[in-house]
Amino acid sequence: MNVRTRFAPSPTGDVHIGNIRAAIFNWLYARHTGGAFLLRVEDTDRARSTDEACRRLLEVMEWLGLTPDEEPLYQSTRQSAHLEAAEQLLQNGHAYRADKGDTGQGEAVLFRMPGRDFSFHDDVKGDLRKAAADMKDFVIARANGTPVFHLANVVDDIAMGVTHVVRGDDHVENTFRHLALYEALGAAPPRFAHLPMIVNAQGKPYSKRDGDAFVGEFREKGYLPDALFNYLALLGWSPGDDREVMSRDELVAAFTLERVQASAAQVDLRKLEWMNGEYMRALPEAEREALYRDALERAGLWSGAFSEEYFRDVCALMQERVKLAPLFPEQAGFFFTEDFAFDEKAVRKRLLKEGGLDALRQMRDALGAIDSFTPETTEAALRQRAETLGLGAGALVHPVRVAVSGLPGGPGLFEMLAVLGKERVLARIDRALSRFADPVTEG
Ligand code: GLU
Repeated sequence: MNVRTRFAPSPTGDVHIGNIRAAIFNWLYARHTGGAFLLRVEDTDRARSTDEACRRLLEVMEWLGLTPDEEPLYQSTRQSAHLEAAEQLLQNGHAYRADKGDTGQGEAVLFRMPGRDFSFHDDVKGDLRKAAADMKDFVIARANGTPVFHLANVVDDIAMGVTHVVRGDDHVENTFRHLALYEALGAAPPRFAHLPMIVNAQGKPYSKRDGDAFVGEFREKGYLPDALFNYLALLGWSPGDDREVMSRDELVAAFTLERVQASAAQVDLRKLEWMNGEYMRALPEAEREALYRDALERAGLWSGAFSEEYFRDVCALMQERVKLAPLFPEQAGFFFTEDFAFDEKAVRKRLLKEGGLDALRQMRDALGAIDSFTPETTEAALRQRAETLGLGAGALVHPVRVAVSGLPGGPGLFEMLAVLGKERVLARIDRALSRFADPVTEG
């Protein structure tokens, strides 16, 4: 069998990560089986599915590399096919007209449930069954002549030759009705796989209130498409071993529906950030540097006053620590301006407390006395001075760090000093001393 999967979103503008995850699973399954991945835009709600919403959907899919194998089908262009199907069902007795709810608009077309139980094997959830008594007749075309979701969805899946419907498990209940429709339309039903909901830490459906929830938001925050793709692929699925960072090829090779978990999948934004850090580090150096440079430019910190070499040294030093390129200015901005901000807490704890400024004076002296500024020489100078003073190295390390970077943490101090260079380091220590030694005279 040639597998044909489809992603069938109702575009509303922003694409929720739960929805795009369905696209990812469909894409992976099609690739894994050598089948086709299709896109059907369920844009029948013209109030919400604007051209803009459709454009955003396609953009997000392209950004994630979820290219459909055939031209997208727009459901709004299919109304006559849907209504023809309704007509066919009317003619062979599977549907009837009735005035639903006295709308005064005329009669709707209702599908007649056959009055027996329906069951199917869900590739994720196993065998599912629904009793006849729990399934009522339902509207397939409204009194105003527009087809209803159930009819349009099934008619289009038949027309597209879809073999596997992989979608959110909020559609499980619909599936029983859809099976009745397939049968009445004389079509073999596809296989179904219903994906677990994605939830927050409390087990509630993951929403905007829990943090970023839309693909566009992650894109703006600087997440790399491959990292987001990889993270979402693991949301409700696992390769069965402990691999987490997986290339697209590895994901394709490992992806099966059997390994999709049935229970809800919890979103963990910290893990996503970690994942992005892994992908950032794996980028070719030039690409990573371009992202950092772009972030510096946006932050107004790219001045051309620095050599290419200096910039690259900073990038090399920071790459282990920066998980998202847009955070580069926050974490490494002090390398590129003398006007960097001081973290107040760090100043209080490391400079203004007993001995902080004295330690800084000692280090001004010790560092001023060495000529070559390498991680080794600056470290030796610090350790020697600490020993002379009978202090632990930390008593000197922290004040220097705060004085030259304004931050409580960051890359290794000695590497940082070597990259900044002697002149900059001494000037910064001097400025910190005059600024914090006598704060009263400040501004
Ligand atoms: N438009 C529906 C949705 O977004 C389609 C569900 C489906 O059959 O995949 O939920």
